[in-house]
Amino acid sequence: MNKPLNYDANNIFAKIIKGEIPNHTVYEDDKTLAFMDIMPMAEGHVLVIPKCEAVELSDMPADYLKAIFETAQKIMGAQRKVFERDGIVQMQLNSEQAGQTVFHYHVHLIPTSIHTLREHATLNQQADHGKLAELAQRLAESI
Ligand code: 5GP
Repeated sequence: MNKPLNYDANNIFAKIIKGEIPNHTVYEDDKTLAFMDIMPMAEGHVLVIPKCEAVELSDMPADYLKAIFETAQKIMGAQRKVFERDGIVQMQLNSEQAGQTVFHYHVHLIPTSIHTLREHATLNQQADHGKLAELAQRLAESI
């Protein structure tokens, strides 16, 4: 698959993959990385990203899609254990018009209900890093 024409190799998630920006990792393998969202729409909000250049769903190679959803299943299982709930919102935005703010494909997994989601990507809702680190560790241990 060719690199998408509109992919910015300096986007924030590309920098996270390269280790240039810190993150609270929950799980990692050769094709995917799962880490805590810093502006969570509910406690325990995790993002799953591919280690390939893709802006949105239409750019995603099939082998990376498979890997992303295998990782998402692991994360969802861990969230169910840690938060003792079945309900997990799975979300993914395609294009700015849909509200996408980071242009590297990612799946949101949010342990809440669609009716209680907090606002999306709101700078004044940045979570405490100590709390994120603790949650990442608890989730990682539950995979
Ligand atoms: P989108 O709007 O593209 O679907 O979602 C982007 C998500 O990335 C938002 O939920 C936002 O809170 C999160 N986010 C933005 N910048 C960072 C960052 O530097 N680190 C982490 N961990 N999450 C981020």
